[in-house]
Amino acid sequence: MVILVVAEYDTAHVRPGSRSALGVARDLAARSGERVEWLVLGSGLDSVASDAARFAPVTVADHPLLVQATADRYARVIADVARAHEASVILANATTFAKDILPRAAALLGAAMAGDVTGYSFADGELLLRRPMYAGATTATVTLAGRPYIITVRASAFPPAEPLAKSGECVAWNVVAATLPNQIEYVGLESRPTMRPDLTEARVVVSVGRAFRSSEEFEQYVGRLADALKGAAGCTRALVDDGITPNEWQVGQTGKVVAPELYVALGISGAIQHLAGMKNSRIVVAVNSDAEAPIFSIANYGLVGDVRQITPALIEELNR
Ligand SMILES: Cc1cc2nc3c(=O)[nH]c(=O)nc-3n(C[C@H](O)[C@H](O)[C@H](O)COP(=O)(O)OP(=O)(O)OC[C@H]3O[C@@H](n4cnc5c(N)ncnc54)[C@H](O)[C@@H]3O)c2cc1C
Repeated sequence: MVILVVAEYDTAHVRPGSRSALGVARDLAARSGERVEWLVLGSGLDSVASDAARFAPVTVADHPLLVQATADRYARVIADVARAHEASVILANATTFAKDILPRAAALLGAAMAGDVTGYSFADGELLLRRPMYAGATTATVTLAGRPYIITVRASAFPPAEPLAKSGECVAWNVVAATLPNQIEYVGLESRPTMRPDLTEARVVVSVGRAFRSSEEFEQYVGRLADALKGAAGCTRALVDDGITPNEWQVGQTGKVVAPELYVALGISGAIQHLAGMKNSRIVVAVNSDAEAPIFSIANYGLVGDVRQITPALIEELNR
C-alpha cells in the first residue's frame, strides 16, 4: 500500500505547495507504515522527476498526450496508478489544478474525498480531517468512508517537506495512449506573466482593493511595494470584475486562499468574502481612508489615510 502525492511543478521544480502535501503524506505514513510516493504527470519530465526524487520516490507518467493538464486524462492516469499501487490515500495541494482533476479521479475510483484540509488528528485510529466551510465561517471535522481517501490540503497550513538524505528512485509508468480519454480539448492559456512569487506560496502578499482604478496604478503602487518586500501581488474581486487585474490574482472565497507571514491590504474594505481568503495571515497591515473599515477589525497594524500618499512613502522607506 502507498500514499500517493500528485505533484505540481514549474518548469523544473516541484512546487512548495506540493511539498506541503508530501509532508502530510509522510506524517500519515509514519503512523501507518506505508510507503510515500510522488506521482508526476506531464511530458518531458526528466528534470522535474529528478527534482521530485530528492523528496520521495517518483512514479513518472511521461507522455506527449499529457503535455497539458486536461482533467479527463490526468484523472484516468491517477486512477490507474492508484489501483496498480494499491494507494490508500491520494494527496495534493488544494489548487485549481487539483480541484479540477482529483474529484474526477475520486469518481473513477469510487473514492471518498475531502478538499481544502487545514488540519487533522486521529481518534480511535480513525483519521479526522478539518476543513473550512461557508467561506471559513465554520470549520467542519469530517471522516471519509471507503478507500482510497482523496485529500487536498491547504499548503499554507502545513510546512513544505524537506529533501531526503538520499534521493528516491524514479520509475516510469507505462501510459497507454489508447486508454486515455479525449473528452477535453486544450485550446489555450491566458495568463499575465509575472516575475513575482505565486500568491499561495509567497511569504509576503500585498493586495489592493477598489481604491485603485487602473492596471497602471496597480503596478505603480502595489507592484512596486510587492517588489520592495519581495512578495506577491493580489487583489479583491472588485478589481477583477472591473478588468483591472487577472482572475488568478484574486484573494478570497472565490479566489485564492493565502496565509503569508505578512499581508498588506491597501484600500480594501474587508468584506467577509475577502477575509475568507486571507484572515489566517500571520500579520495583517491595513491602509484605508475610512477608520471604520471592517479590515481594521482583523489588522495587527492599521494606517488611516490615503493609499496614494502612504504607499509611496512605504516603498521609499523600504528601498532605503
Ligand atoms: C459570492 C461572492 C463571492 C465573492 N468572492 C470574493 C472574493 O473571493 N474576493 C473578494 O475580494 N471579494 C469577493 N466578493 C466581493 C466582496 O463582497 C466585496 O465586494 C469585495 O471584496 C470588495 O472589494 P474592495 O474592498 O476592493 O471594495 P470596496 O468594498 O468598495 O472597498 C474599497 C475600500 O477602499 C477604501 N478606499 C477608497 N479610496 C481610498 C484611498 N484613496 N485610500 C485609502 N483607502 C481608500 C474605502 O474606504 C473602502 O474601504 C464576493 C462576493 C460574493 C457575493
